[in-house]
Amino acid sequence: MKPMGSIPADFRGGETLTIAGRSAEDWIGIAGCTPLFVYDMAVVARRISKLRAAMPPALAVHYAVKANPFRPLVEQIAPLVDGLDVASAGELALAQAVAPASPVSFAGPGKRDAELAAAITAGATINLESAGEAARALAAAEQLGIAPKLAIRVNPDFELRGSGMRMGGRASPFGVDAEQVPALVRQLQDAGADWRGFHIFAGSQALDAEAIIETQAQTVALAARLADAVGAAPPLVNLGGGFGIPYFPGEQPLDIGAIGAVLAEVLDRRAPSLASTRFALELGRWLVGEAGVYLTRIVDRKQSKGETFLVTDGGLHHQLAASGNFGTVVRRNYPLALANRLNAAADEVVNVVGCLCTPLDRLGDQVSLPRAEIGDVIAIFMAGAYGLSASPTAFLGHPAPVQILAGIPSNPNAIFTC
Ligand SMILES: *Cc1c(COP(=O)(O)O)cnc(C)c1O
Repeated sequence: MKPMGSIPADFRGGETLTIAGRSAEDWIGIAGCTPLFVYDMAVVARRISKLRAAMPPALAVHYAVKANPFRPLVEQIAPLVDGLDVASAGELALAQAVAPASPVSFAGPGKRDAELAAAITAGATINLESAGEAARALAAAEQLGIAPKLAIRVNPDFELRGSGMRMGGRASPFGVDAEQVPALVRQLQDAGADWRGFHIFAGSQALDAEAIIETQAQTVALAARLADAVGAAPPLVNLGGGFGIPYFPGEQPLDIGAIGAVLAEVLDRRAPSLASTRFALELGRWLVGEAGVYLTRIVDRKQSKGETFLVTDGGLHHQLAASGNFGTVVRRNYPLALANRLNAAADEVVNVVGCLCTPLDRLGDQVSLPRAEIGDVIAIFMAGAYGLSASPTAFLGHPAPVQILAGIPSNPNAIFTC
């Protein structure tokens, strides 16, 4: 038997799985088929409130759309946050369509000229990833006759310790090396651009509050050094995010209260060169990850060489991360359960696999579950971030899953493909 992570508290109670007041089978009935993703907006809204309560009141909170770009979800989140962070022209178009009033920032390497032009026209802030990109953005702006809103993404000279995905402290496709930043800011100012400040994103999926606290303090200190070198206060410093969620056995939720308390002090004591600067956090995973459940039905149960396999109609083409093939080095089990016997005692150790013809398609490895039969539904938790949109949906040509946004006052908002 191998361990699995714990089911998020919002879904843990009860004999059968309930999401936003309805059973998993009810949601499947609404969808008309499996597999499907159900996202509980009430869970997301509660997390946003909890974050706001923990952080200094002046801190802006942005949603990183790439964590989950499901349109009804972005539409509901937009009014609850201070801005949307996008990483492509597609996400920019989505942000403009669902939340035209939301401030947008656009980060990510390899922005094409057309993407730069679209962002400038939309009035979005472009987080520049290189000097070359800066030159192309200025050229696009000149052609359009618009003063572009440009910030510089800084490749910091430190990294976020204990982060699942490190993005600083080394050679990087992301951001401009810190020592080259002051000269580039001057160049933007000389060209008549509206310089918006700095974006400093040092990592992702960190569960160590102390490491985040240390990184945020280093980030504010770096911003102050750069402001001194530039001789002007950055209007905004985007501190990045990196807040992780507990997927695996032994992991604990992040203590955001501790992070907020220290950040409040750090901002209170900040250097005079940052006196007029606003600060923002940009979070994806922490806001939406725990709010999503992937439901997939068992279509076969088989024995092979002494092991039991539960073969489902879902798989890594929808939920790559649960198979351990998205940004993890060692494969570990996401929390999963039988939807109709959520808290029943386990009777057997099984492998839960998907329907793809690849040994990579393992959703649960040697997990203990109550005895399951064909037709039972497996719920895989922690499916709200980097789920469907981070999965190879075209691989093997199965249909896309249904997605449903639950927990909103009106009827559930769904995109049907079955
Ligand atoms: C992906 C990304 C985020 C969101 O990261 P999470 O770990 O989901 O919070 C924030 N900012 C940038 C620049 C990103 O690329």
